[in-house]
Amino acid sequence: MEVTLMAKNVEALYWEPREGGAVQCKLCPVRCLLKEGKTGVCMAKKNIGGKLIATAYGLTTAFNYDPIEKKPLYHFHPGATILSLGPNACNMGCQFCQNFQISQQTAPTRRVEPSELVAAANVRNCVGVAYTYTEPLMWYEYVLDAAYAVKRAGLKNVLVSNGYLEPEPFDHILPLIDALNIDIKSMDEEFYRKICKGKLAPVLRNVEHTAGKAHIEITNLVIPGLNDSDDNFERLAKFIAGVDPFMPLHFSRYHPMYKMENPMTPVDTLLRAGEISRQYLKYVFIGNVEVPGYDDTHCPSCNALLIRRQGFSAEVLAVENGHCVKCGTSVKIVGV
Ligand code: SF4
Repeated sequence: MEVTLMAKNVEALYWEPREGGAVQCKLCPVRCLLKEGKTGVCMAKKNIGGKLIATAYGLTTAFNYDPIEKKPLYHFHPGATILSLGPNACNMGCQFCQNFQISQQTAPTRRVEPSELVAAANVRNCVGVAYTYTEPLMWYEYVLDAAYAVKRAGLKNVLVSNGYLEPEPFDHILPLIDALNIDIKSMDEEFYRKICKGKLAPVLRNVEHTAGKAHIEITNLVIPGLNDSDDNFERLAKFIAGVDPFMPLHFSRYHPMYKMENPMTPVDTLLRAGEISRQYLKYVFIGNVEVPGYDDTHCPSCNALLIRRQGFSAEVLAVENGHCVKCGTSVKIVGV
């Protein structure tokens, strides 16, 4: 039976003392002001004795060997297996959260020390470790320690994140991270404020800042009636193209979940999102549903089939050293 264990008392980074024993957390834009004994919005930090403690340190809700395609990352070591774990924590409150049982509610966890990760990853010949499932940046202190150990062992670090962090801590952790998938949930600040209890601008800032420093792919969960307008798809694709037109964009099918009862995303909506985005971007994929022609990677230059995918499996057919073997174009695919 799984149990929730007490973490070690690891002091959090990025906080300041305030009057009367309170503390101000400065890790993410929520900026929780916490009196003695209070826990932050993310559930991962607590004011204990006038200090901010990273109470979720080392406690994971999951410990799985996943295909890297499941993150989703399609252009980073395609076909690899990656050890995946995630905290019982999140700093947003998306009404549609597809993982709400472990991100928005208290859930059972088990402790995994950073030093255990490398051996566990090597058991299944993993490319590295993914911090994923919930909001791993709320595990900041643990991810730092784990990522150092993983990198020292010559393995890769992957973050699957909402990207909602203050610039200084984000920039500080970035050199340890090899690849990210960041959710851009909408191009509308109101959507972020009302539906996600967050803000869009810090997310866009972090996406822009990651480009050129680590591999990055974007996911957009398409919710009927909320973020499925042509205008939203076009603004999203234009934004990404402005950063890097080779950055893969994954449209993902939403299912009614948590507090959201809107119906499941129609396939036609995903096709429309794909059509609009392909005007601006080299690589657009559709996930959580099989749509022929939207799971494979083709060369943006000669249209050769580079990677064939079925479900979460990937077969690399025509990429060598990041170049299309047919026409020689640099296709910006990492690890093959
Ligand atoms: S990291 Fe957690 S405690 Fe800190 S400001 Fe963000 S939500 Fe609040």
